[in-house]
Amino acid sequence: MTGVYCLLPEGRAGLLVPWRGWAEDVDTYLAGGGYAPLIPPDRLLDLITASGLRGRGGAGFPTAVKLRAVRAAPGPRVVVANGEEGEPGSVKDRWLLRHRPHLVLDGLRLAAAVAGAERGIVYLSDAPAERAVRRALAESAPELRIDVVSTEHTYVAGEETAVVRRIDGGPALPTAKPPRPFESGVGGAPTAVANVETLARIAAMYARPHEVAAVAGTHLVSLSGPGSEGALVEVPAGTHLKVLADLCGHGRAEAVLLGGLFGGLYGAGWTDLPLDHDGLNAAGGALGCGALHFLGPGDCPVAVAVEAAAYLAAQSARQCGVCLSGTGAMAKALAAVAGGEATEDTVQKLHRWSQQLPGRGACGLLDAAARVGAGLLAHFRDRVDEHRGSACPACSRAITEDGRRFVLPVP
Ligand code: SF4
Repeated sequence: MTGVYCLLPEGRAGLLVPWRGWAEDVDTYLAGGGYAPLIPPDRLLDLITASGLRGRGGAGFPTAVKLRAVRAAPGPRVVVANGEEGEPGSVKDRWLLRHRPHLVLDGLRLAAAVAGAERGIVYLSDAPAERAVRRALAESAPELRIDVVSTEHTYVAGEETAVVRRIDGGPALPTAKPPRPFESGVGGAPTAVANVETLARIAAMYARPHEVAAVAGTHLVSLSGPGSEGALVEVPAGTHLKVLADLCGHGRAEAVLLGGLFGGLYGAGWTDLPLDHDGLNAAGGALGCGALHFLGPGDCPVAVAVEAAAYLAAQSARQCGVCLSGTGAMAKALAAVAGGEATEDTVQKLHRWSQQLPGRGACGLLDAAARVGAGLLAHFRDRVDEHRGSACPACSRAITEDGRRFVLPVP
């Protein structure tokens, strides 16, 4: 496995063991080439464009396109470092903020320069991450006005319109689009909301200008599964998921939950899937923020789908009618499958909703619920049918609504 390991400490690239308590100080960061003098913004934008960097928050939108759009809009402008990772099972953004805050702040400085922004904001919910960022700002703040805004940790609080709404003093709930934040964001100003890993990669490629494509083509991936503490790894795009499962001791997994919950369930054939947006999209999944949860031989995929859907239904902001009724209905139908009460009509409805509901909510929560249902029916139809008429012991044992199964500690 080859790649450019630039966000995790050298020598720890394959599998990150817990590094609790450690944080990179400014002297160490400067010694590694950080906070280098700025080059003209056009050249910096060319660098990002040439790298092909795509956002790491979930949608995979080209970073250069987003920054160019903000730059083209009339000022004043804002750049937000979005560290609110709402997907269960993802720890990469909190790891970066807690342990490499200067890398993120440097990326924020560079992105602001490209976008022509006068103001940067770090948006997060994790208290240790907030302490690390404030410590870093007190040590050496970049030449940019930077505010720190904290929020409650929820599934939708990191969605870009929810970010803007919260920073403007409202609840951290998504709003209808358009306008998107690059058109009208914080205080009405054109705003680039950039994921923390995206910004860290901009800073890393600025320090390694001859390796920009490799830096941009490398991913932080959060791995979890039953009975393990989880792991954070940094691997090149295209790495097969089997390699990642082996890294964290889940090589015999029967299935994988992709993207946090956003990419849905995947069964037979998952080992050959490549870790990249296009490959996973073509297979009917999604990379999302790059969190993978492996299902062990004793895990029931129906139970996992029920827990995921119940969690999403509980996290729904209940402001889009279609999400309010659709996510809840899918969770209820899946619970009926688990309880042995589903009829063929229930399964048909589940199928129809999983095909028709994606894209109809103001944020990705509804899509995530639909993908979980679609994945279950596409890959585990036999297991669904086995549940007909009798409750499954594995399902009744471990289902909770808080997504506990998918959560792992931040290393
Ligand atoms: S899709 Fe659901 S979670 Fe997202 S904004 Fe609408 S109601 Fe809220």
